[in-house]
Amino acid sequence: MVMKDEKLESIYQDVLRRNPGEAEFHQAAREVLESVGPVLAKYPEFRERKIIERIIEPERQIIFRVPWQDDKGEVHVNRGFRVQYNSALGPYKGGLRFHPSVYLGIIKFLGFEQIFKNALTGLPIGGGKGGSDFDPKGKSDDEIMRFCQSFMTELWRYIGEHTDVPAGDIGVGGREIGYLYGQFKRLTSRYEAGVLTGKGLDYGGSLVRTEATGYGATFFVEEMLKVRKDSFDGKRCVVSGSGNVAIYTVEKIHQLGGKVVACSDSNGYILDEKGIDLELVKQLKERERRRIKDYVEYRKHARYVDGGNIWEIPCQVAMPSATQNEINGKDAALLVKNGCIAVGEGANMPTTPEGIQVFLQAGIAYGPGKAANAGGVATSALEMQQNASRDSWTFEYTEKRLANIMKNIHQTCFETAEEFGAKGNYVVGANIAGFIKVAKAMVAHGLI
Ligand code: GLU
Repeated sequence: MVMKDEKLESIYQDVLRRNPGEAEFHQAAREVLESVGPVLAKYPEFRERKIIERIIEPERQIIFRVPWQDDKGEVHVNRGFRVQYNSALGPYKGGLRFHPSVYLGIIKFLGFEQIFKNALTGLPIGGGKGGSDFDPKGKSDDEIMRFCQSFMTELWRYIGEHTDVPAGDIGVGGREIGYLYGQFKRLTSRYEAGVLTGKGLDYGGSLVRTEATGYGATFFVEEMLKVRKDSFDGKRCVVSGSGNVAIYTVEKIHQLGGKVVACSDSNGYILDEKGIDLELVKQLKERERRRIKDYVEYRKHARYVDGGNIWEIPCQVAMPSATQNEINGKDAALLVKNGCIAVGEGANMPTTPEGIQVFLQAGIAYGPGKAANAGGVATSALEMQQNASRDSWTFEYTEKRLANIMKNIHQTCFETAEEFGAKGNYVVGANIAGFIKVAKAMVAHGLI
């Protein structure tokens, strides 16, 4: 489908030509381009200053070799990435993803989305992303440590508390951040806590950072439901994934009175009509690093469906919290048909463009990742604040800050969508609100 605005279509054709084979990046770029047409009419200076053409090109892309040895002494070589996308609002900020599917196109899509997500938080952070095609699955603790040390041995020269502040994403949690931080400290001889976020609580981490993405996504859905004079109370919910985002989404939904009946990993899903036993999921996934299928060993009435599609389970609220493009057009249609009234994206870009169209046309409450999952990075920015002031805040205070930030993001997206003639469309609201903030700063900084 060709875009309505000819100029935007030609920018998109340029994106395709200059970034061949990067399907996920094309998808993320197209979605933003399709939203910002009306902004250019209102702010002609953005067109004159070629803000879109500049925003779509990363400021810097770093690709490096990561050699490491496994426990048997065999040598492996992975590829490392850090894309420093946009620093108009603050130091580059965004996670590191360790997953075999990682290549430049994935890091660019994530980095590009991160610019707008971070802008929406209202906190002073630019956008970036990094990672590696390293597969942490089945690796020993020592192997993970050696990989992280080798990765940081290259990365350290490009990052810093005022330059670029990485954190976790898929495959990178507290353990990995610990090893990365240790190596950074060793290489630089600096105790620069603000260089990474998602740190352990013993050495400069923030309370609520672990919970933040899942809690934040749930707060965002709560806000969308409030607009519709509704709430989580008594709602049947499905949360895909069983990693950090999924776990704390389930936790917050349960606190708010909803019932999560299913979650998953890349092999299959579990269905527990009595409600997911979160302590058990935490034990299996966080402490024992096992697969979700083992859940049914302990909860006999629950069912594991190997290779099953979690979106076939009827639910009122769906929170995709696994990975990109996990809901296609058919899945979306099935969710709507089965009575789904709200979708909140804990993952980045989990819904395909066809799926998004289905949700928007059905008029359900659809919270895109850029807005709904911004709580993670927002709390990273709160961690940076605590590090800068050598302070640490209580759980209650930090959670309150997070809840407020999510409320504000929701309001900004809602009002912006309305202002630009797309009431209730949080995709348009998030893209436009994030874009305007970054664009204004870029105009102020001149042609750089
Ligand atoms: N990886 C997370 C995200 O997608 C968090 C990034 C961060 O905390 O810097 O937003």
